[in-house]
Amino acid sequence: MAVPKTIFKRIIDKEIPADLLHDDELCLAFRDISPQAPTHVLVIPKREIASLASAKATDADLLGHLLWVARELALKLNLERGYRVVVNCGPDGGQSVDHLHLHLLGGRAMGWPPG
Ligand code: AMP
Repeated sequence: MAVPKTIFKRIIDKEIPADLLHDDELCLAFRDISPQAPTHVLVIPKREIASLASAKATDADLLGHLLWVARELALKLNLERGYRVVVNCGPDGGQSVDHLHLHLLGGRAMGWPPG
């Protein structure tokens, strides 16, 4: 039986809409549907990687690209006061969608430690 697509794979396949901010050959970035800060963007690889833990050594350049895109978006979105980039991984990390993604959060001061 076919494994159901994740919500992010459905966005990549254009089956459901997203508020896209970036689209290149390796990744997409779009606004989170349930923002946790005034700016909350997700950066996802087009390649299906379930989590940071399941990434391979051969994904290292792609991981760097995702981080670079988050950095470029922070500039574009005027987050000059700073921002946070988060990767939730696995159940204890609070990951709810099994497709690797970076959260770019900004527009307010962040607390530490995270919950
Ligand atoms: P995580 O809990 O780290 O797995 O993050 C998953 C994120 O995906 C959450 O912040 C959700 O609000 C977000 N999300 C879920 N569905 C969508 C969607 N259709 N479009 C945009 N963001 C979504």
